[in-house]
Amino acid sequence: MTKLIVISAPSGAGKTTLCERLLKDIKMIKLSISSTTRLPRGQETHGREYFFLKEADFKAGIERDEFAEWALVHGNYYGTSKRFVSEAFQDGYSVLLDIDVQGAASLRKTFPKDCFSVFISPPSLQVLEQRLRARGTDKEETILKRLRNAKAEMDRKNEFDLVVINDSLDRAYEELRAAVSTQLSREQ
Ligand code: 5GP
Repeated sequence: MTKLIVISAPSGAGKTTLCERLLKDIKMIKLSISSTTRLPRGQETHGREYFFLKEADFKAGIERDEFAEWALVHGNYYGTSKRFVSEAFQDGYSVLLDIDVQGAASLRKTFPKDCFSVFISPPSLQVLEQRLRARGTDKEETILKRLRNAKAEMDRKNEFDLVVINDSLDRAYEELRAAVSTQLSREQ
């Protein structure tokens, strides 16, 4: 059956790599490309990682009810396109959403039967800090803000259907893949 596979994690927890592997292994899943008002980082491209919008355009999208959910994260707007999700479902695809804990909570409320939500947790906040610094893409101020947010996000992990601790990428991936496969093979 088709599902909304909602994945949340503090940034630096390894979520992007886990999502990429899942998309490669399970062909009937499409990645939802969100809209955001934050600026592109590094090689990020409009329409690939995100649709990068001006704040006024994002707000116009909210007015037109174009988002299945949206949230303010780290001071920027992020939102999931309703149209993308409904078209993927019509074509028989499940949708993978890499969104924050607020977005995950909204989707669970709006689509209670369709969601399978997973929280990817770093082994500890110290390990997360090391990973964020090693990435080298963010300013000090951004790293500190993300660490504060990470703590708040980790406090909400028990709202999720599954918590995967990313201690080793291969082990964490196997746990995630097995759980998602089970969900997708279930009858309605
Ligand atoms: P980043 O700016 O590092 O790409 O993402 C920051 C946070 O925003 C991450 O936790 C990411 O999962 C979340 N995010 C990305 N897209 C969306 C979205 O469409 N909705 C919500 N609620 N959060 C999102």
